[in-house]
Amino acid sequence: MAVEALTELVSVNPVTGEPVGSVPRTDPDELPRLVAEARRAQRAWIAAGPSARARVLREAARVARVHVDEIAATIVAETAKPRTEAIAHDLYAAVDNARWLAANAGAVLRRERIRFRQPYLRLKRGWLLYEPLGIVGVISPWNVPFGIPFTTVATAVAAGNGVVLKPSELTPLCGEWVRRVLEEAGAPPGLVQVAHGEAPVGEALVDEPGIAKLFFTGSVAVGRRVAAAAGARGCPIVLELGGKDAMIVFADADFDRAVEGALFGAFLNGGQACISVERIYVERAVHDAFSERLARRAGELRPGDDVAPLATDRQLERVADLVARSSGRVLAGGRGDGRFYEPTVIAGAAPDEEIFGPVVTIEPFDGEDEAVRLANATHFGLAASVWTRDVARARRVADRVEAGMVWMNDFGYSFATGEAPWGGAKDSGFGRTSSRHGLYECVQVKVVDEDRGRLWGPWWFPYDEQTERGLVAMLDLVYGDGAERWRAAWRERRALVHIVRRSLGR
Ligand code: NAD
Repeated sequence: MAVEALTELVSVNPVTGEPVGSVPRTDPDELPRLVAEARRAQRAWIAAGPSARARVLREAARVARVHVDEIAATIVAETAKPRTEAIAHDLYAAVDNARWLAANAGAVLRRERIRFRQPYLRLKRGWLLYEPLGIVGVISPWNVPFGIPFTTVATAVAAGNGVVLKPSELTPLCGEWVRRVLEEAGAPPGLVQVAHGEAPVGEALVDEPGIAKLFFTGSVAVGRRVAAAAGARGCPIVLELGGKDAMIVFADADFDRAVEGALFGAFLNGGQACISVERIYVERAVHDAFSERLARRAGELRPGDDVAPLATDRQLERVADLVARSSGRVLAGGRGDGRFYEPTVIAGAAPDEEIFGPVVTIEPFDGEDEAVRLANATHFGLAASVWTRDVARARRVADRVEAGMVWMNDFGYSFATGEAPWGGAKDSGFGRTSSRHGLYECVQVKVVDEDRGRLWGPWWFPYDEQTERGLVAMLDLVYGDGAERWRAAWRERRALVHIVRRSLGR
């Protein structure tokens, strides 16, 4: 029994506590073997070439659609989030990214010609090569348990890498779906390995020398620990961490749309989205009416059907404690029932920590400058949204808000698009997933120069005075403007002839 408890990771429904299924827990000592197996498969994957990889990714999008019911059922069973959210967030993100990668990864990562503009390099042909990193590690959270690991893994795989994925210990079966979809789509067996377990398995993955880069999505506290451990062995890392996203509502915004946007942004997945709206700033003229309507609408949301439960008892206690400690006035909600916490609206200042629950604060502002100042008054910088009918103003505010993503009159939709990069500023992390920027994170750039050896470098040995004068003149000739170029060339014509001779190897 004791051995079984150690080796089986049982996934349970957060509301009923019923087991959903189980997977073997990975022994950290097994990681080198997983990396070696992924490496073997990766060789075949590289040899297959970009068109074959594109075919597999396109097929993965189809396989995910074919299994939509089963995947959504697994997500709902492991998280108890509404099925609509499992489909709209997890599955749309996965399918859209797979299709985008299939259509674009080959072109984004095709070798690129470098055109040297310097006359003395004209005979060279330079190339940029985007090479896979090898085997990358992906550590993912529970809250978008299929969409996040799938898009990160698919991007790594599209760039020619193999992957060891460590999904959240709360959602191991969703992690299994990531591997299954890619394998069913034709990825070489073993290319995507899944390591299951809690923090110690994650720590071992971070320390595993065969892992060339890490993609971590999760909380700031764990992300920093992981980044420190990765840094200690010189392993690069992308960090997608928490947020404290602001929603700025100007008085001219479409009122109904903004209220419904706030409701969705604050309470989707029970407020457990990295990009949850946690702070709403409303222009004073409409603040009271907005707060009142939002509070009423929050009270109309149905626990379970609309609003997901909190994932753990610890998180539930944390949310309740944050609300109890808040100096603001509770306009709606403020109580828990089992794992569910009521959608809560608090009038007043927000704590500068991620709540990660169905709690949002609302405050008035006067004018654009104050709105920007309030939005930026946090050490987080994941995303923000601006709600107004004045597009020029929305652009100005978007320019000034410190965040990785800013949406206008909308919220969060770019998560489910392959085109848009995903990631934050400040404490919300660094690096990007999705889009061509996500692909660039999955490769190393190599510069390769082709030179038939016709010209010699005049800056090679031996050094002499004529060469030095010629090099100075050439600086002006190549980089100077207008007449100064020719003046320098005429003045140092002898030295320049010397340079030309040396270039010709004489
Ligand atoms: P978490 O930080 O507790 O766990 C994330 C992952 O890290 C899990 O797989 C966990 O097992 C693993 N882990 C825990 N300790 C570890 C250690 N010492 N070494 C290595 N791995 C370790 O986060 P969570 O509760 O699963 O997810 C919620 C958090 O994730 C929130 O803060 C949320 O904002 C953030 N998040 C960010 C994004 C984004 O894209 N920026 C997306 C989703 C969630």
